[in-house]
Amino acid sequence: MCSYTTHVHVCTNCDGEDTVLISEQLCPVAKASGIFGSCFQGVLSQRDATAYRCWQCREMAQHGVELGSMTS
Ligand SMILES: [Zn+2]
Ligand SMILES: [Zn+2]
Repeated sequence: MCSYTTHVHVCTNCDGEDTVLISEQLCPVAKASGIFGSCFQGVLSQRDATAYRCWQCREMAQHGVELGSMTS
């Protein structure tokens, strides 16, 4: 059975998700023809989540630092 893995980044701050990559793994049957899913055994989908800080939250954190440094 062929499978694909959806690699997502999940923000540790706001739980926002960002799909970064979808990788396909061909099983030996499909590999013979070189076409994903050509084994007709169905496709298994997997999820690979990585914790990160999204740009909105990074931006907010940066502005917080800037504002803090301005008032001090
Ligand atoms: Zn397959
Ligand atoms: Zn976020």
